[in-house]
Amino acid sequence: MHTRTLAELAAALRDGEFSSEELVGHFLDRIEALDAGLNAFVTVTREEALRAARLADSARAEGQAGPLTGLPIAHKDIFCTRGVKTSCGSRMLDNFVSPYDATVVARLKAAGVVMLGKTNMDEFAMGSSNETSWYGPVRNPWGHDKVPGGSSGGSAAAVAARMAPAATGTDTGGSIRQPAAFTNTTGLKPTYGRVSRYGMIAFASSLDQAGTITASAEDAAMLLGAMAGHDPRDSTSAEVPVPDYLAALETPLSGIRIGVVKEFFDEGLDSDNAAAVGKALEVLRGLGASVEEVSLPNLGLSVPTYYVVAPAECSSNLSRFDGIRFGYRAEDPKDLTDLYKRSRGEGFGAEVKRRIMTGTYVLSAGYYDAYYLKAQRVRQLIAGDFHRAFENADLIVGPTTPTPAFDIGAKVDDPVTMYLNDIYTIGVNLAGLPGISVPCGFVDGLPVGLQIIGTHFDEGRLLNAAHMYQSETDWHRRVPSGMLPESG
Ligand code: GLN
Repeated sequence: MHTRTLAELAAALRDGEFSSEELVGHFLDRIEALDAGLNAFVTVTREEALRAARLADSARAEGQAGPLTGLPIAHKDIFCTRGVKTSCGSRMLDNFVSPYDATVVARLKAAGVVMLGKTNMDEFAMGSSNETSWYGPVRNPWGHDKVPGGSSGGSAAAVAARMAPAATGTDTGGSIRQPAAFTNTTGLKPTYGRVSRYGMIAFASSLDQAGTITASAEDAAMLLGAMAGHDPRDSTSAEVPVPDYLAALETPLSGIRIGVVKEFFDEGLDSDNAAAVGKALEVLRGLGASVEEVSLPNLGLSVPTYYVVAPAECSSNLSRFDGIRFGYRAEDPKDLTDLYKRSRGEGFGAEVKRRIMTGTYVLSAGYYDAYYLKAQRVRQLIAGDFHRAFENADLIVGPTTPTPAFDIGAKVDDPVTMYLNDIYTIGVNLAGLPGISVPCGFVDGLPVGLQIIGTHFDEGRLLNAAHMYQSETDWHRRVPSGMLPESG
């Protein structure tokens, strides 16, 4: 069962090949068998999942099933889930049981989706390797000594190892697309405002966006249709109608103009990665798309700009975790100041502290204009670059990451090298655009991702191009060896 896509599992449920209870039980058993070696889950909600699956089966028996009814997925542990621990990968929230569901969770639940559990992640979504989690690193199913990417590394590893057919993720600077590239999964980061952020623990509010990690673009289309749309509880969620993403998947690509970003292929890109992306471009051309070069001249400024804007916003968002209003509380404080200091000192890990300090610095009087305001201006320049590139292209395509997955431990002590991992993804967040990473090959047994970027709210075309590419290729079908054989 587990090698099938969500769409195939939906069809099997519809045809009565197996029940949701059997399906959910199968994935729960896989988590039990495989997760000890991968550490992709923080919490597994076995009993709740089986109960929800039985309810889904009853709904189906009564003719009440929708397209997603009874399908299991995992949620990144950044989404609030009612009655279930929501840790955000941090000691700060290790004992937090959310009293409500995030909109993403609520909408999927209302569509009949069954939650298998909550996935491991970089602490407060800050990281590119899943090594900053309070719960320890996640291992890449394609090589246990490799990182799965971050921050949605638990979700990506869970889907790659087929412990869940699909998972949610969030992407502030690449956290869906980069782990998808590292694990041979399909990672969709929608347009900023496409999916509600209500109940999604905030990192950098002007960049954060919820999306999916799946086995195919079709699966992403299925889930996005249920997740997307205006939410009065998130003032930045857009009042833009949600199209039928599935209906547009097979639209021919003839006449589509693809822009290949010149700067993406400058130094820093692994040559084998570049070759895999080059082959993918040939496939897209074969599907009828025209391919031309475009330029994003300010691309080199995107990482430094992000590392001013994101820390600034996070320093503000994370100020609520003070041991009194929210979060871990240190024991036996001497006085109030000691309580604040030790609660935050003990509750947050090193990377989060680094970001809070950077953010506080760039927002402080005297430095605000020099750093924060300047970064906001450069952000506009980067958005303008994309805008101009889209005058000559319907989609922008390039690699998702400069290299395949790296070794666990290789970059943890070198933040700048770690930050540069996101060079191809961060600009997309700064401009608020949608992007998707799809598997496009392997280098030394490790997956490589192709990134497709679209204009605002054009997820339909992104999914269409990704789906057409996947109907011509089978990279996304490959699963890592060492997974248990198919059963049931
Ligand atoms: N890797 C980037 C960072 O560390 C992006 C993280 C994300 O998208 N949540 O901030």
